[in-house]
Amino acid sequence: MPPSREHIRIYIDAPLSPGAQIALSREQAHYLRNVMRRSAGGTIGLFNGRDGEWRASLTELGKQHALATLDGQIQAQRGTPDLWLICALIKRARLETIAEKAAELGVREIHPVITEYTNAPRMNTDRLAAITIEAAEQCGLVSIPKLYEPEKLHALLDKWPPERRVLFCDEAGAGGAALARLQAAATPQAPWAVLIGPEGGFSPAERDRLLAMPQTLAVSLGPRILRADTAAIAALGLWQSVCGDWNNAPVAIDRTAV
Ligand code: SAM
Repeated sequence: MPPSREHIRIYIDAPLSPGAQIALSREQAHYLRNVMRRSAGGTIGLFNGRDGEWRASLTELGKQHALATLDGQIQAQRGTPDLWLICALIKRARLETIAEKAAELGVREIHPVITEYTNAPRMNTDRLAAITIEAAEQCGLVSIPKLYEPEKLHALLDKWPPERRVLFCDEAGAGGAALARLQAAATPQAPWAVLIGPEGGFSPAERDRLLAMPQTLAVSLGPRILRADTAAIAALGLWQSVCGDWNNAPVAIDRTAV
């Protein structure tokens, strides 16, 4: 495949300000030089999740190191809607899909949970965090979803914020059609969470507890049982359409000199 001339965006955990010189990691230097075939003098975008996105000139690009000098901000810092994804731990590949898609779909926080029927009790936090960063680099985000360590669903519910609504995706059909229910309940300014269960679904005790919470809106995602990753993507898209930022105008980004 020929090298792409697309706008390259790189996440870096360093303060970004005019004229700052940023040392990139060895892996980032390798990526820029050998994968994207860039050379010194080229430009890239840098963001850190706090200071927006900046146009940066590659002042040095060697085999092992790269130095970028910030020219100016091309995108102001902006957050994503106040949406959490609560998802039960599932097998590695599908959980990675969920992490990537949650970032792309503008989730602010990802809370993996262990439910009564969870049969994949571990996750690789570093790998999932790297996946959310790659997704943010690829899709123009300037914020990275906050990824939490797994905890028990019941423990999370014990400290549930009273103002946060829960879109409880319930394959057992406790709720009605998701679009109509969400439109009827739409409280655009409210914080929300989308809740997706494990491969084994929710236990009766979990379902009873969730249905008893005043914050819960139980919904069906149709007559088919979806895989957890499919259900997460469908529910997040639905929420963004009704309550989130899919109706907002696209953000203008000044990439004229990138
Ligand atoms: N093993 C469960 C069963 O057969 O009933 C299916 C669990 S499903 C693979 C994983 C999760 O995706 C569910 O707990 C639920 O949160 C969500 N989900 C899947 N299909 C859904 C549907 N049609 N409506 C609502 N949620 C759904």
